[in-house]
Amino acid sequence: MTEVRAKKALGQHFLTDQKVAKAIVDALHGGLPTLEVGPGMGVLTQYLLEREDIDLRLIEIDSESVEYLLTHFQGMQGRLMEGDFLRLKLEKLFPEKFAIIGNFPYNISSQIFFKVLDYKDSIPEVVGMVQKEVAERIAEKPGSKTYGILSVLLQAWYDIEYLFTVGSGCFAPPPKVESAVIRLTRNSRTDLGCDEALFKTVVKTAFGQRRKMMRNPLKPLALARGKADVLSQDIFSQRPEQLSVEDFVALTNLLD
Ligand code: SAH
Repeated sequence: MTEVRAKKALGQHFLTDQKVAKAIVDALHGGLPTLEVGPGMGVLTQYLLEREDIDLRLIEIDSESVEYLLTHFQGMQGRLMEGDFLRLKLEKLFPEKFAIIGNFPYNISSQIFFKVLDYKDSIPEVVGMVQKEVAERIAEKPGSKTYGILSVLLQAWYDIEYLFTVGSGCFAPPPKVESAVIRLTRNSRTDLGCDEALFKTVVKTAFGQRRKMMRNPLKPLALARGKADVLSQDIFSQRPEQLSVEDFVALTNLLD
């Protein structure tokens, strides 16, 4: 087999720029078992295999890519799994802490990050390439138009760095949008200071109507919890995009 035929449904845009590939792998602090999501034809894999501080595992959904990797790289046996990252039981694969790296399939990048959140205490580091808009949203601070659910939930647990932008010409076939590489490093937080499940519900509900004062979207939740009295407080006159993680924690406690 010469090359993998790019399949749109799998979000396949293969990185062809070697310098960018090397820079992405260099961005990983390392020292941990590491899972590469969607290796494709192995442009990142080749550099990851060179790193002695990394015990590499790979998960790829596309059987053609799997076949390509098996024939072009040594040591794939026992490391490379064919399957869907979103269905992977990570706790079975990695009983200890591990890192994640990948040029993520853009159609599921949000779902990948929600899964990272489910395993936040096992995943100290993530380096990923995503659509530029998604990278900006995740890294954005309160007050910005793109600040949203994933920004708040990820920033609660991770320090986020927007590392660099990657033009569409670095891929084959070129995607319609620009890309960017971000790094998530787990912060020292062990406890939010509020009920975690309710925090998630509050954040998701508040951003349901992001241009409105939060009083509107949060009213049903407050009523259901017998907390109608707190709705008159000033914080409910703000829009969700103005609130920091700490503000959302305070809001959650008001509704608890
Ligand atoms: N890392 C390669 C490929 C990036 S394209 C490169 O940089 O060139 C995204 C890759 O993710 C593709 O190989 C695609 O087949 C794979 N992929 C898509 N959905 C996936 C999923 N749910 N689980 C694992 N891999 C997936």
